[in-house]
Formats: sequence, structure tokens, C-alpha cells
Amino acid sequence: MSATRVLVLNSGSSSVKYQLLDMRDGARLAVGLVERIGEETSRLVHTPLATDGGKRERTGPIADHEAALKAVAAELAADGLGLDSPELAAIGHRVVHGGMRFTAPTVVDEEVLAEVERLVPVAPLHNPANITGIRTAQALRPDLPQVAVFDTAFHTTMPESAARYAIDTETADAHRIRRYGFHGTSHAYVSRETARLLGKEPEDVNVIVLHLGNGASASAVRGGRCVDTSMGLTPLEGLVMGTRSGDIDPAVVFHLKRVAGMSTDEVDVLLNKKSGLIGLCGDNDMREIRRRIDAGDERAALAFDVYIHRLRKYIGAYYAVLGRVDAIAFTAGVGENAAPVRAAAVAGLEELGLALDSALNDEWSDRARIVSAPYARVAIAVVPTDEELEIARQTFALVSSNSLD
Ligand code: ADP
Repeated sequence: MSATRVLVLNSGSSSVKYQLLDMRDGARLAVGLVERIGEETSRLVHTPLATDGGKRERTGPIADHEAALKAVAAELAADGLGLDSPELAAIGHRVVHGGMRFTAPTVVDEEVLAEVERLVPVAPLHNPANITGIRTAQALRPDLPQVAVFDTAFHTTMPESAARYAIDTETADAHRIRRYGFHGTSHAYVSRETARLLGKEPEDVNVIVLHLGNGASASAVRGGRCVDTSMGLTPLEGLVMGTRSGDIDPAVVFHLKRVAGMSTDEVDVLLNKKSGLIGLCGDNDMREIRRRIDAGDERAALAFDVYIHRLRKYIGAYYAVLGRVDAIAFTAGVGENAAPVRAAAVAGLEELGLALDSALNDEWSDRARIVSAPYARVAIAVVPTDEELEIARQTFALVSSNSLD
């Protein structure tokens, strides 16, 4: 039997998340994560789903990514799913920044790694960890295709009018400053699933995708191709997020440096880690914010209002970008679970063809579904995102087509 399994690795600076999938039906055979790599209290949680073995957890120092991946390989081997299995077709890696060069998943070689390395200045938190993950996996299975699937790739179809910042062209080009966008794997998956829910081909549908997790971004997708997105050079721009400010007057940065005497690094930490919902009210979890609002907390209510105001502005903006909208899709932790966020985001927009069925909206489900009123011109969808499945599909499609050459 030919190889049908794909291992998906999402390597962060101190963590590795993984899933092993069988691409015949997309079934998950095992999932897990290693966190706090490099600390005394590293933790590995492994759940073999192929067998009925329960979750296994172990704590203790795991020195680096190589040790982490070896520990994962040992767990998989214990379930008969070892990395040496001939059924493993490829390893798919999430890579955050692919710049303008990587518009599609790519089999990794030294030249590709060098280019991902060249992009470190625009993704200093993410690309180094992604490179480490790839190098470690290569060392374990040098014969196996390693495929990089880029968060930015789906957004490379944006027209220049959306991707260019209105700054001096030479400076922008010299430093590769432009809108790249992120969460692309999720926007691609969710826009396609939304078309499927509508019983249409992606080419025939215009969708506004609202990916609302701890990080949050919106995209305008016309006929399956991204034409605008809210994140920019980095994942800081756009919507109000858990800890990130999203859009802000850039002069706030000069002001904080000149008047408040903050360093560049301090401003970076302020805008990325201490802003957004947590900056506004001290909490970044939407569940806790809703609890506080129900208890009459005004700061939580204001944080919610700022969050919703920005979201509605993007819905309006992308309406104008697309001209015709067939669906708005909510996804990720907040988008999939927080009915009050969905309700507030579209309240009073009947003129735009937007109307919820409140019973459907309030009913929790883990399935992709339509929650708009039957008479509404624009469908409102809730689509659980599945970035790992999308990475596995793209990886498998690439290695299967290569093997036919
Ligand atoms: P990320 O992948 O960006 O870390 P997720 O997509 O997992 O984030 O979303 C995490 C966020 O989802 C949490 O911070 C929380 O605010 C929100 N969330 C999760 N479940 C619920 C829920 N039942 N109601 C409201 N918000 C929720």
C-alpha cells in the first residue's frame, strides 16, 4: 500500500504541536503537543486516537526541539505509528512568513530554508522556530519530503492596491514593507468550506472571513482568491485581538517614545502583549469578558464595544471591497463559540442583507453551519477552522502530484 499518512508540525519558539493524519479520509491518528521546551517543567501530552489508548502526559526537562521531536517520535512508535513507518508520506510544517516568494506549499530544500531565513527580520518571533522544526524533522527522516505550508501564501493574490502601504516606494521595497497577511491557511480552508455549505464552487462565491481567536484577522475573498486582509507586515495590524492593539495611528509610537520615554522594545511589548482586550480590561478571554459584562462590569463592557466596533468597520470595508457578498464566515475560538460576538457584529445591518436567526446563532455546535435568517440575502456561517487538516491536505496533494511526475 502506498504511503498515505502526513505528520503536521507547528513549531513555536518553546512548543511543538503535532497531528498525524491519514489522508485517505483525513482521520487523525494521533495529536499532541510539547510545551515549555528548554525549561525544567517541559510537558508532553500525547493522545493516540487510532487506538483506544487514552491521553498520555509526562513532565520533565526537554532541552530543545530535537529532544522534543525525538520524544514525540517515541510516543508515536509506542502506538505503532513511528516516524520510520513506510506509510508516512511527508511531514507538513506550518511556516508563518513566506514573503512574496512562496505563493503555494513548497518542498523544502536548502535554498528554500535560506529564503525562509532571509524573512526572519519580518517574522522574528515565528520563522526561526519554524526553521528549527524543519531542520530537526529533516535530521530524523532525511529521506522524507518536508513541505512548508505558509500562513502568508493565501494572501499573495491580493492586488497591489490592497497590499501596498502608502509610504515611500524605495524605502518600502528596500525593506520588503507591504501587507502580507497571516492566518492564510485558516482563511483558505474556511472560505472553501463556506462555499461548500452554500452548495457552490469557491470560484462562484464572495466571502468575508472573520478569524477571531486570540489573534484575529479578517479577509475579503472573491471567487476563492484573497483580495484584502487585515493583518499587515506583521500580525499586529487590523482587528482588536486578545493582547494586540490592531489598527492604531502610527504616531502613537513616536509619541510613546518621545513623550513617554519608552524604548522601541517597550512599545513593541505594549502593542503586542499588553493591548487589545487585555489592555482595555485586564482579560483576554472572551468567556471571562462576557461573565464580567453580565455582572455589570463597565471596563469589560467597553472592551467588548471597542472589539465589536472595529469588527463592524472591517465588515463594512470588505463589503465595499467585494461589491457583492454571498457570505460572512465566523471562525476560531471566539468566532466559533461566542454567539454574542456574532450577534453584535451584524446587529442592525439588515440593509446590507445581514440578519441572524437568533435561535440558530445561540445553539452551540461543533459543526459548520448557517446561522442567518432564511430571508437574509447574505448567509452568515459558523465554520470551525482546521488548519492542521488543511496543512496535511496541501502537503499530501503536493507530494502525491510530485510522485506522479
Ligand atoms: P489562538 O489559536 O489564536 O490561540 P483560538 O482560536 O484557540 O486562539 O481562540 C482562543 C480564544 O477563543 C480564547 O482566548 C477565548 O477568548 C475564545 N473562546 C474559546 N471558547 C470560547 C467560548 N465558549 N466563548 C467565548 N469565547 C471563547
